[in-house]
Amino acid sequence: MNEDAFRPEARNPRGFADKRARDLRAERRIVGAVSQVYERYGFEALDTGAFEYADALGKFLPDADRPNEGVFALQDDDEQWIALRYDLTAPLARFAAQHWETLPKPFRRYAFGPVWRNEKPGPGRYREFVQCDADTVGSDRPEADAEMIAMAAEGLEAAGLPRGAYVVKINNRKLLNGLLSAAGVSDTGQKLGVLRAVDKLDRLGADGVRLLLGEGRKDESGAFTKGAGLNAKAAESVLAFVQAGAASRSATLDKLAGVVGGSAEGDEGLAELAAIGAALTSLGVAEDQAVFEPSIVRGLEYYTGAVFEAELLLEPTDEKGHPVKFGSIGGGGRYDDLVARFTGQRTPATGFSFGVSRLAAALRAAGREGDSEARGPVVVIAFDQAHMGEYFAAASELRAQGIAAEVYLGGSGMRAQMKYADRRLSPAAVILGGDELAAGTVTVKDLDLGRALASGVTDNSEWREQRPGQINVPRGELVATIRAILDAAP
Ligand code: AMP
Repeated sequence: MNEDAFRPEARNPRGFADKRARDLRAERRIVGAVSQVYERYGFEALDTGAFEYADALGKFLPDADRPNEGVFALQDDDEQWIALRYDLTAPLARFAAQHWETLPKPFRRYAFGPVWRNEKPGPGRYREFVQCDADTVGSDRPEADAEMIAMAAEGLEAAGLPRGAYVVKINNRKLLNGLLSAAGVSDTGQKLGVLRAVDKLDRLGADGVRLLLGEGRKDESGAFTKGAGLNAKAAESVLAFVQAGAASRSATLDKLAGVVGGSAEGDEGLAELAAIGAALTSLGVAEDQAVFEPSIVRGLEYYTGAVFEAELLLEPTDEKGHPVKFGSIGGGGRYDDLVARFTGQRTPATGFSFGVSRLAAALRAAGREGDSEARGPVVVIAFDQAHMGEYFAAASELRAQGIAAEVYLGGSGMRAQMKYADRRLSPAAVILGGDELAAGTVTVKDLDLGRALASGVTDNSEWREQRPGQINVPRGELVATIRAILDAAP
């Protein structure tokens, strides 16, 4: 090897995670469970490419303040800009517009896969992460929204979160819009300022939000954030609105009617929420699974009506006992203008997106990951190059019966091979030494037992009687012997 060769430091870019078997298993389990829920509701699978033309993704990016507007983009050899998809909704809108004539309508599809966002990474905030979405394109019925909420709740439970560990919060953009129009606020920038202020209710409380709705707020460090510039009366009605959450969906509706009723858009929003509530009840979605929560904003600007956000209610703690905040584990809403960008025709649509990576992390932190330890393969010990054929035959026999098996292919001796098998969490090692081959037998070492004893999971003497650590059986009984160890797994 050339001593002077350039040696890059082995490192991965921030926000791009390496996922090992355990992480992948957790993610696949979630995607599988959620996909099944989507399919049960009649959604068909669709996959589109990772890249879209940048103009197809549009300006609905999560963090529009950054220079290249939140996406990873590059210029193709035909000079056109293409960008990695930042969610699964924008590609769906493009697909639906492209194939609208021939699609069954409403078009109901689900999709999963990685999405990429060129934003500042942080804890639980990746630049590449997996989403799993369902959307209905071509229905303006509130029942289509209710179905999204029902699938969100069912999907979370299918993924492993028990009832009470999560809640889906529901709001409608039209409520606040109606309220602001009634208060004479029509400037889009000012409306966005209001949304941004409302979004901080959790963190800053009512007093902090009041300042941000008005002139602005100085934080602890002395930095000043300019406010939305509402007058005191308008600010108070916005505050009353965001604090209108009550014990039940119908009680919240009543309170909301008192605050936003009267404006045309507000009344429309109220009627939609009421219809969603009625459908949720018919779908069997309980009050503790889905609530109306007027302070929910949702980041993306493309939502036009109902919005949903799934939150974890558990307060998991890290190794040091500090509470871990996960943010939202899923979200969605109604976006009636996204397909119209292409076709010019208003096409009502609604959808929900699970943040699979975040949900996996949340389940792990909550101790709800399920079988977290991967079961490794049976390892056939390799003693002698001359007998590789016998080792491979044993591995093939096990594989043919659906048992994961491999022949050790490293260069180390017996002890190291046993250590390897143990690190792989193998249930057993298969020993075909000279004696075994001569006698037509095989020795099977029960590694599950060794691990159980080492971890103190089991009473030593009882197990020793029932399970010898190592047995020698006729070669023809290999599969049955391994099977017995697998079946007895603790
Ligand atoms: P959004 O597409 O922004 O509506 O997000 C939908 C879901 O994706 C959120 O509820 C999160 O669970 C997840 N999510 C959004 N941004 C990130 C990120 N940067 N890293 C990991 N998960 C994310």
